[in-house]
Amino acid sequence: MIETIYIEKEVQQHPRVLLILERFSQARVIYIERYSEIFNRKAQNFRLQKQQPALILARKHKNYVLPAPAGYSVGGQHHYYFSHMMNCLYDCRYCFLQGMYRSAHFVVFINYEDFNEAIEQVCLQHPGEESWFFSGYDCDSLALEPITGFVEHTLELFSKYDHVYLELRTKSTQIRSLLQREPMSNVVVAFSLSPSHIATNLEAKTPSIEKRLDAMKKLQQKGWKVGLRFDPLIYHENYEQSYQQLFQWVFSILDVKQLHSVSLGGFRMPAPFFNHIVHLYPYEPLFAGNMETHNGMVAYAKEQECAMMTFCSEELLRYIPGRLFFPCISS
Ligand code: SF4
Repeated sequence: MIETIYIEKEVQQHPRVLLILERFSQARVIYIERYSEIFNRKAQNFRLQKQQPALILARKHKNYVLPAPAGYSVGGQHHYYFSHMMNCLYDCRYCFLQGMYRSAHFVVFINYEDFNEAIEQVCLQHPGEESWFFSGYDCDSLALEPITGFVEHTLELFSKYDHVYLELRTKSTQIRSLLQREPMSNVVVAFSLSPSHIATNLEAKTPSIEKRLDAMKKLQQKGWKVGLRFDPLIYHENYEQSYQQLFQWVFSILDVKQLHSVSLGGFRMPAPFFNHIVHLYPYEPLFAGNMETHNGMVAYAKEQECAMMTFCSEELLRYIPGRLFFPCISS
């Protein structure tokens, strides 16, 4: 899967780097000074690179933890995110990472201890208050877990606090390490879901919805809290029927009593990212939809977004109590 690994010279002897190298003994290894030489290089084509991305192992030096963007809340008082990785194994056509980064290579920051230290520093600023940390903003939280072991490492930190919460956002079925340990009441494994035909057409390389539901069910049976993220909602003909069927399917499999939260949000993206992605995929019907730009964000036209949000909210609230529901309105 990985043919080329770039390694910052500074971390070439780091035990995690050596472990990862053992896994990919056939890969071509190239030593570099800073990951940005490769990752931020001009004139790269995200679309072409995505066909055979390289792995870059690097050290992060600052900005380990940042305030979460608006709409990332599922309760609590304080919201932050962190990214031990940039880019994703999967290839969702609507993913904003394609517009944000020049490169499709995966960067893994291997100094996990520094992330934990930064998280603890933030916790100290809010003693006794409910703080949330979201992983999976610049990547999928679990997709590369068998290689990185990051979640395994971070769970140790969260096991020390009960008022500090972690959301692992994912479309992955890499849940083995979670199933092997005792569930934690302050960790939510949140799965993004779309109607099956949307997932097939727009979420390349991701596990099917059936497999994601199977993973969620196993996590629930083990006692983990799971979350549902119907985000982004994608407009299409007969979307009402598609989402109705999806909700019916999901709630026929999952136990509502063991759901932490359900969130919902329409497709939205910063305008510069959107324009860049349209340039990469000029014939993608998704981007030719009824879109409008408000305050620098591209989203479905207000009426259309409102109709979808209203319909899906009403449908979801037939299955779940309102206290679990966190809709995100973009316009
Ligand atoms: S799973 Fe998430 S991060 Fe990965 S490509 Fe899809 S939208 Fe982007």
